[in-house]
Amino acid sequence: MRYISTRGLAQPQSFESMLLSGLAPDGGLFLPEVWPQFGKPEIARLATGRYVDAAFAILPSFVGDAFARDEIRADIESAYAAFDSAEVASLVRLRENLFLLELFHGPTLAFKDIALQVQGRLLARALERRGSFSTIVAATSGDTGSAAIAALGDLPRVNLFVLHPKGHVSEIQRRQMTTTACNNVYNIALEGTFDDAQNIVKSLFSDREFVARVHLAAANSINFFRIAAQCVYYFTAAARFGSPPVFVVPTGNFGDVFAGEAAMRMGLGIERLVIATNANDILCRALEDGLYAAGPPRHTLSPSMDIQVASNFERAYFEASGRDPASTRATMSDFETRRRFHLPADVLANLRARYLALRCSDEETLETMDLIYRETGRFIDPHTAVGVAVALARGNSRERPMIVLSTAHPAKFPDAVYRATGIVPPLPRRVADLYEKAERASTLPADVSTVRTFIEQRLANS
Ligand SMILES: *Cc1c(COP(=O)(O)O)cnc(C)c1O
Repeated sequence: MRYISTRGLAQPQSFESMLLSGLAPDGGLFLPEVWPQFGKPEIARLATGRYVDAAFAILPSFVGDAFARDEIRADIESAYAAFDSAEVASLVRLRENLFLLELFHGPTLAFKDIALQVQGRLLARALERRGSFSTIVAATSGDTGSAAIAALGDLPRVNLFVLHPKGHVSEIQRRQMTTTACNNVYNIALEGTFDDAQNIVKSLFSDREFVARVHLAAANSINFFRIAAQCVYYFTAAARFGSPPVFVVPTGNFGDVFAGEAAMRMGLGIERLVIATNANDILCRALEDGLYAAGPPRHTLSPSMDIQVASNFERAYFEASGRDPASTRATMSDFETRRRFHLPADVLANLRARYLALRCSDEETLETMDLIYRETGRFIDPHTAVGVAVALARGNSRERPMIVLSTAHPAKFPDAVYRATGIVPPLPRRVADLYEKAERASTLPADVSTVRTFIEQRLANS
């Protein structure tokens, strides 16, 4: 399998170089040259097997011959052995035809573990084989950072720099990152927003000399491997139903919901992908009136979704344009200068056929957390609540199962859970000692050259 850029000016890459990089050299995002295809009987078999078997049925078609099949198998098995639930993605019934797909049973209690635990293992293999090293820079709105640290901390040949917006992640999210004992991890508390952090990462990737010198790679969902690993749970969940379900996806950077589009393109029947957003509703506005315009980011109770510019929307645009790199390139460079663009009518119509975007306020988020607690005795985290609120507002039909992706464990957001229900959710054992460990982070201004210098100095000393 080879990987092409959405902007069409970069050479197709092998799986391994895609894995070891981030943005394509032309500033675009990588996608597989062709989508692997799965037939109905193959998909039906995924309903009954183990999650690791489903992952092993799907991921090798993206990896191709970059790794031996038994290497891929071993990495999948060991990645998911560390999860609290052997199901990895457990389906829980909330109401008639309304389900949660719990994706937070990994080491850091959010769905990002599902891809990053496998990605870290494959990355280590690739570096070992090449005798090479890698510098990974991750921008985080809260959960990617800890998942990247759990997956890449203490890996030989890897240094990891994590940029989080200072003061705008939950205390548990911050402590999960800053209390790491790994010497190859550097936490940067950035004086800015997540969008600033993501822009800095993108600027670093556009500095070709720097990229080549430090072997820069991405752990964010700009790395296609994240999408590949995440499409697996769409398959295992949908395969359990007799008719194509609606998925409701709490959305920030558009990676998780795009994994749903990937699954559809690979042959999975999905009725509709519902993009659930908080007050950062750029995607709702884009699908309503065709104008994709970045506004000022707002801080909400669901911080991991406090994102204005959704990187992966470029992938959806490229697909909706019939894979037209010239159109994608023109539109994205327009956006880079003017912070807005109009979706061409055919692209908009194509997106609307697959996606629906709905928003939810902080007040509705709290009401939904309380409602679900009273109805089921279950705590849900504020991101999941955005999805559930949107699902309830849309109304679930008798025929169509509706599946809300539950993206984080409620204990990661105790303040919001307490505000909603009056109860502090218990901390799971794996993070019980977070408040006892010392924190380490460097505060830096939201300035790319300061961040670049910081990285260079730390690498020189490592
Ligand atoms: C990252 C994250 C999201 C958003 O996922 P995207 O792939 O960025 O759209 C939603 N909820 C939680 C808890 C997250 O950590």
